[in-house]
Amino acid sequence: MQPRFHSAFAQLPLSLQSALKPVLDNDHFAACLSAKEVSRICADCGMDAETLTLSLLPLAAACALTPISAFHVGAIAQGNSGNLYFGANIELATMPLQQTMHAEQSAVTHAWMRNERKLRALMVNYTPCGHCRQFMAELNSAPALKICLPNRQPAPLSHYLPDAFGPQDLSISTLLMDTVDHGLTLAETDPLTVAALAAANRSHAPYSQAFSGVALESITGAVYAGSYAENAAFNPSLSPLQTALNMMNLSGEALTDIKHAVLVERKNSLLSQWSITHSILSTLGCSDIRQQLIN
Ligand SMILES: [Zn+2]
Repeated sequence: MQPRFHSAFAQLPLSLQSALKPVLDNDHFAACLSAKEVSRICADCGMDAETLTLSLLPLAAACALTPISAFHVGAIAQGNSGNLYFGANIELATMPLQQTMHAEQSAVTHAWMRNERKLRALMVNYTPCGHCRQFMAELNSAPALKICLPNRQPAPLSHYLPDAFGPQDLSISTLLMDTVDHGLTLAETDPLTVAALAAANRSHAPYSQAFSGVALESITGAVYAGSYAENAAFNPSLSPLQTALNMMNLSGEALTDIKHAVLVERKNSLLSQWSITHSILSTLGCSDIRQQLIN
């Protein structure tokens, strides 16, 4: 079991510990559970899926990186497939607070990057902040999305964000997690560039059309891709680097272990991810950072 889970695991009910152990004992456990695993664990410890998911929140919170706040937030997104995707907050030491990713954003983009099409529910161990409520209002599942907190009745997102301002107010019909392909192409065949291009083609950038994606290769050779996710209120948007770093962290690799990185973005767009991507990756100790521009 990865050491980050030891303490949270030890505090789970014993029946849940024994049902979860085979999954967590895999050192490559990437902070998600398939619907099949969820059914098996529920049957083994006599829980329904919602109770199980709420019980797993301390494990999700154990994935948090909080060098500034030491405040661990855990969230779990439940996809329509029945799969569960962990999320945790990520702060970057020495970087401005605006580079923080919240646990709800982490769980949502985790599900998106693993090709989940829609979310059914989001469980979180603290009440969602205004920023996260706005972030989730961008989802294609927003009208039906159920928010679940420990010791509270589940409630729709509209309960937490009444009278919302969202994509519909800007006449945007393509929503976060909708299946899209922007049709961007490159002649490059380098696998890292191909992964970044695929992430750019899935990106959600209906406000700027500045489609972009990042792919990171770690010292173990694993590749983590992230797509850009815009928000109607702009500030809750996530850069493609943030969504890629989130996948790397949830997979259990240290963000200081990035060996190569590629950013793919459109040329002459209204905005560019290059300077922030280069700055953060340099701070994390990565020196091979490439930018591929597409016409
Ligand atoms: Zn938040």
